[in-house]
Amino acid sequence: MAKKDFSKKIVDWYLVNPRDLPWRKTKDPYRIWLSEVILQQTRVAQGLPYYLEFVRNFPNVKALANASEDKVMRTWQGLGYYSRARNLHACAKVIAHHYNGQFPKTHAELLALPGIGEYTAAAIGSMAFDQPEAVVDGNVFRVLSRVFGIEEDVSTATGKKVFALKAKELLDIDQPGVHNQAVMEFGALHCTPTSPNCTTCIFSTGCFAKRQEMQNVLPVKSKKVKIRTRHFTYFVITKGNKLAMRKREGKDIWSGLYDFYLIEGKRAQHLKTLMKKDSALAQIEPYINIEFKSDSYKHVLTHQHLLASFVMLSLSPGLSAKKLLDTLGIKFYSLVEVASLPKPVLVSRFLTKEGILE
Ligand code: SF4
Repeated sequence: MAKKDFSKKIVDWYLVNPRDLPWRKTKDPYRIWLSEVILQQTRVAQGLPYYLEFVRNFPNVKALANASEDKVMRTWQGLGYYSRARNLHACAKVIAHHYNGQFPKTHAELLALPGIGEYTAAAIGSMAFDQPEAVVDGNVFRVLSRVFGIEEDVSTATGKKVFALKAKELLDIDQPGVHNQAVMEFGALHCTPTSPNCTTCIFSTGCFAKRQEMQNVLPVKSKKVKIRTRHFTYFVITKGNKLAMRKREGKDIWSGLYDFYLIEGKRAQHLKTLMKKDSALAQIEPYINIEFKSDSYKHVLTHQHLLASFVMLSLSPGLSAKKLLDTLGIKFYSLVEVASLPKPVLVSRFLTKEGILE
């Protein structure tokens, strides 16, 4: 199929089939960037309320840059992939302080910003600044592999290069933003992963996958994601109407969010054994009263399955807040404060299920 035919057909289709989404009605790079970061690995129906909340809380890039990390993480809470939220914040600070709040326009400058990769740079460049950059995401892989019969594995570096070149070759440089959105929207709504609508398709006469009945084979993706199972035991220490929480740091999941004191094991273990083995808990063991142990909670992340239980503890008098901070790294928060802290969904599920928070 000729390049012109592909772009014309798909843009014509898009112009009568676009979803009515707020980031489609703007050329503001800040809003386009927000929507693209939120929608990576997130469905539109799930991402839309987050987008609206971000725009409400942080109407421009300077407002986002000046916000506290807790507020940014709280607004992101529930979307997963929390490093994206931290990068979003870091990127806003660079744009606010080094670019005076104006997004840079060139692909190279956009790529140099924290958390902005090829895809996001191309999306901002083409949609906000009409730069001739082609986006390549899962929808683009699917549409191009099926229409043109590209059998390269999309999870390999070579495969990615082949698709990037094809996307670039097909791009309508007079309207790169519209073209890019058209291909992605066509993949999201029409040429879908498991039920492509081939009978009413604009490419039905020229599509390789339809002709060869290879819709289920294309795109080729060989790498299997390895799933790790982790066993979490959370210790929820209470004092009156307060709960002891700690801010997670480092490179593990949920960095920047608040949870409880945690012991992780390779398998489920008896509670007493677990507590004895933990040197920090052993130090305060004489003050601990076990009140309640929850059932197991299963929480599924993309590469990890978590099996968690929560142990509610109260403390006998005599243990100072400083000792708790020094030994377990935890601090007490009122329930109002706990409600407003950014937390993993797993922790929110527990707090709601046990009636601790609404
Ligand atoms: S004919 Fe089917 S597989 Fe080919 S582009 Fe259309 S919907 Fe996708």
